Amino acid sequence: MHYLDNAATTAVSKEVAAAISSAMETQFGNPSSLYSLGAESEAALEKARAYIAASLGCAAKELYFTACGTESNNIAIQGALEARKAWGKKIVCSGFEHPSVYKQIERFEAAGYEVVWVRPDINGEINHSEIVDAVDDKTGLATFMQVNNEIGTLLPVMALAKAVKEKNSRTAVHVDGVQAFGRLPVKLNGTGIDSFSISGHKVHAPKGIGALYLRSGFNLVPPFLGGGQEKGLRPGTENLPYIIGLAKAAEAFAGKEEQLYAHVAVLNAALKTGLQGLPGAVINSPAGAIAHVVNFSLLGYKSEVMLHFLEGKKVYVSSGSACSKGAASHTLVAMALPGARIDSALRVSFSATSTMEDVNALLAALKEGQETLARTK
Ligand code: PLP
Repeated sequence: MHYLDNAATTAVSKEVAAAISSAMETQFGNPSSLYSLGAESEAALEKARAYIAASLGCAAKELYFTACGTESNNIAIQGALEARKAWGKKIVCSGFEHPSVYKQIERFEAAGYEVVWVRPDINGEINHSEIVDAVDDKTGLATFMQVNNEIGTLLPVMALAKAVKEKNSRTAVHVDGVQAFGRLPVKLNGTGIDSFSISGHKVHAPKGIGALYLRSGFNLVPPFLGGGQEKGLRPGTENLPYIIGLAKAAEAFAGKEEQLYAHVAVLNAALKTGLQGLPGAVINSPAGAIAHVVNFSLLGYKSEVMLHFLEGKKVYVSSGSACSKGAASHTLVAMALPGARIDSALRVSFSATSTMEDVNALLAALKEGQETLARTK
């Protein structure tokens, strides 16, 4: 099979599965328990935290484990706005965020917050200065993703965070880093970023584990109440096996992001060259997008119809974002692309384990699909 939907989720690697299985069998003690079994679990927890923190360029005490990227985004955004509610009822947000960000912002908007949505242009690019210009003394939160999950647009989040802080040092800066972690080198220490979300299942760890970076000293009201785990930020007994799995997953890329990126860039270039030979193919990802994501339309062929044709050839891609099953892509709609381009859009997403055989199989299947399927318009 040729799995090319790695922005939706990735396969758990053998090494990660083995580490989790071993932890489940041997390290079942509760990290909060006072006897030695608990202490051993706590030591393993802190070892994993230190390793993942190092891969993000932050201190171990700034990293909190959560259940997923969605939960990390919710804790960061709700917690930051609650702490700033006395003065910060304005939000600046990029216009192509993941639902776990934009649905929260919509709720604050409905509750009376002023929201500036900075929409992508028709090429899928965001005008960075529009984000910075919109920040003022009432802005409690500025939030923007590092890598867009649908078209792969890259935002210069370090520079943006610095510029936002120069305008208002009290504005919380949140970055959804779910599609960046493991794909780009990330160094959070010393940036203006206050919070940064990651998710395990995008980097060959299982679904159901995530983490949140919170800059030391950052002011946030924890939205969940419970025991004191994760310093009360994310109470609930830690999922130690999956946390160990996340650290194991990070071992596969930590410090090697540039080398792994070069491999994916070759696949990206081959795919784009191949697409040029297909009638009606038009790329929707911006020229400077991350190499891991290629969004394109095959004009005249409905996304779902082509997707299922590819599935019949054991080639797996997405018709947009997996979170929006069947619905028109939020990002392509925000770009104001013509309906014909949105209806025929496909997203291919690579991981470091993708191969040239995958690309060739996809291109052959697309060609056959075009020959076989009746044009839908
Ligand atoms: N943010 C982005 C950019 C994503 O792509 C995703 C998952 O698709 C998430 C957040 C949510 O992560 P999770 O599935 O771990 O909740």
